[in-house]
Amino acid sequence: MNEYDSNRISDLFKSNGYLRSFDSQNVNCYILNTCHIREKATEKVYSDIGRLKKNYRNKTKPLVLVTGCVAQAENDEMIRREPYIDAVIGPQSYQNIPNILFSLNKKIKKFNLTDFDVIEKFDKLNSLKNSDTNVSVFVTIQEGCDKFCNFCVVPYTRGSEYSRSPEEILKEVDHLVLNGAKEITLLGQNVNAYLYKKKFRLSDLILKIGKNKKLKRIRYTTSHPKDMTDDLINCYKQEKKLMPFLHLPVQSGSDKILKNMNRKHTREEYLDSIDKLKKINPEIKFSSDFIVGYPGESEKDFNDTISLIKKVNFINSFSFIYSPRPGTPASKMKMVDTKVQKKRLIILQNLLEKIQMQKNNDKIEKVEEVLVENRLKNQIQYFGRTKDLTPVILNDVSDVDIGNLIKVRINKSDKKITVW
Ligand code: SAH
Ligand code: SF4
Repeated sequence: MNEYDSNRISDLFKSNGYLRSFDSQNVNCYILNTCHIREKATEKVYSDIGRLKKNYRNKTKPLVLVTGCVAQAENDEMIRREPYIDAVIGPQSYQNIPNILFSLNKKIKKFNLTDFDVIEKFDKLNSLKNSDTNVSVFVTIQEGCDKFCNFCVVPYTRGSEYSRSPEEILKEVDHLVLNGAKEITLLGQNVNAYLYKKKFRLSDLILKIGKNKKLKRIRYTTSHPKDMTDDLINCYKQEKKLMPFLHLPVQSGSDKILKNMNRKHTREEYLDSIDKLKKINPEIKFSSDFIVGYPGESEKDFNDTISLIKKVNFINSFSFIYSPRPGTPASKMKMVDTKVQKKRLIILQNLLEKIQMQKNNDKIEKVEEVLVENRLKNQIQYFGRTKDLTPVILNDVSDVDIGNLIKVRINKSDKKITVW
């Protein structure tokens, strides 16, 4: 979502005559769009700004804006601690950037914009065309979270659940398709909790978007297991453009830990959803997120997670050591020993990697459908993804293939990349 937000922030700047720069040593304005999901992000901001100060010692100081969830969580404190920062702007307030640029440039005052104005934000963004011209693009359809898992900062930094109207989403999708998009990934912190006016759901939206003739692929992320409803599961049969791949974070395979996390579902309910999805579409593959060493996690709880991984055979997942976040209920619970956490993470990641490599190896000599996204920096090879999101390096294609679905035979693979 930060990638989507960064693009939209860049669109807002464009409307004020700024151009995006990839040379951070020579800019008028430097924006750090931050994530607060795990520890260390805040310290990273300060060290990044320390480096920036050095780079600009003999040059005109750029405007320095800190946006995103670190800005939301730390707000005024950041400006007090680091006067080099000109504004802290939360994820639901960045629509105000054009209004404050003048004052900021005149050094009239510093800004702390951390209100939750999500309706106003999308009103403003709807009036500005999304200038993304990539083959595969993101569209935020839902923001915020009302689930309050005990470990998570999102409900505090992104605010409560909000769903954009289908009209504005479809308009943005149509525009992006005119810009050349062939694949849309619908985004939300809880994307499958999408609900507009108490009746229009994510499944309705997927079927509507699927009608766009030039669009080839649809994905959505991130889903909560509790909101994996039958209408959404049925979409995997009804809508051929919906890719047979689902990122469905489970966090833990232990019922005790799921309860302590306030995840609102059991191991069995999770596995039931996986089974239903496989029945509807046997081609479907899964990935997940795991938190290792959550307070109270015993060896047995950890082994429940390992057995769940073996059962589902996730093809690509994210795993993290539990990181206590200030203000969340879990941060007050007793921590698992760091050494134990690290040991478990290694065991879990080794298993995930083994499965992933096996799955990639299984693709060798098979024919896969790949969407060609772009040419790689080395200028000779191209990049694309299979239906299940596996990255593929392509040799014998050219610029005319960008945006096309092509059939390729996979000839080798390693941990991450499958080469054709
Ligand atoms: N809404 C999604 C996840 C959003 S956060 C869901 O409910 O599944 C993305 C991932 O960050 C989470 O799935 C979790 O695995 C990880 N995460 C969030 N808070 C964390 C914390 N305090 N410590 C470690 N990992 C965390
Ligand atoms: Fe965080 Fe996801 Fe839980 Fe919401 S559902 S609190 S975003 S982990």
